[in-house]
Amino acid sequence: MKIVNSIKDLKAYLAEAKQDNKKIGFVPTMGALHNGHLSLVQHCVKNNDVCVVSVFVNPTQFNDKHDLETYPRTLEADCVLLSSAASDVYKRQVLLESAGCDYVFAPSVEEMYPEPDTRTFDLGTVSEVMEGAKRPGHFNGVAQVVSKLFYIVEPDNAYFGEKDFQQIAVIRAMVKQLNIPVTINACPIVREGDGLALSSRNTRLTPEQRQKAPLIARTLKESTTFVPGKSVQEVIDYVVNTINSDPVMEVEYYEIVDGNTLESIKNWSDTDYPVGCITVYCGEVRLIDNIKY
Ligand code: AMP
Repeated sequence: MKIVNSIKDLKAYLAEAKQDNKKIGFVPTMGALHNGHLSLVQHCVKNNDVCVVSVFVNPTQFNDKHDLETYPRTLEADCVLLSSAASDVYKRQVLLESAGCDYVFAPSVEEMYPEPDTRTFDLGTVSEVMEGAKRPGHFNGVAQVVSKLFYIVEPDNAYFGEKDFQQIAVIRAMVKQLNIPVTINACPIVREGDGLALSSRNTRLTPEQRQKAPLIARTLKESTTFVPGKSVQEVIDYVVNTINSDPVMEVEYYEIVDGNTLESIKNWSDTDYPVGCITVYCGEVRLIDNIKY
């Protein structure tokens, strides 16, 4: 596994692979890797000849300066994890000649942004609702960095986690608008044994908050058993009230949307793909999760 800091070097390595008609898979991350990230790497390794993982804390997608400053940066530990993910997959995929993450792309901010990125994306509803409304500029920053990364890596496949459900819709809209020839692959949420969705931000929870945080996933799961008996609004109220009844938790929003358009639904019959998306403050830590009904 090679750790590459410059765009020029990465492009040179990948040019060789492309010449040999190798399929390139790509997993963009902000590091502080956990098993959720590693599951994306494993999907990537299984379905491509070359696996590239980027580790880059992108400043343009943070609308909160404090969040950017305190975001965990653990490149050394990330690289150890990435090579062990490789050997794990290797064990299971004995037939794969070369298994595992091949390149960790860890550029500096100056490398990615030699000059300020002034592009403004208009990606419609999928980027405007929910996270788009609560974190102004966030998805524009995501579109900036992911489009740059796609231009650099030119992957055949890219892998994203359904934990950031809205992000996948935004990326799909972006590649469509920019005609970037990459297939976007959505991978399922990886959870702790108690249901809490893995997140780099979980390390910021106090022991008490960590103990309470699984209430989010538990409530979402429970709420699926009320469908279609209860109305959409009743299910929303149940989820919000149950989570808010814990004094440590505060729901920022809970919306049940069409999983493709991300438009809110009023009735279950409005869509055949209803997804509930939630953001909860657990103390000061902002946690997101979602569930398919
Ligand atoms: P991040 O480093 O938070 O930007 O996440 C990088 C990628 O990992 C994104 O596509 C996330 O959706 C994905 N990811 C983060 N947490 C999880 C999880 N618990 N399960 C699956 N994918 C995840």
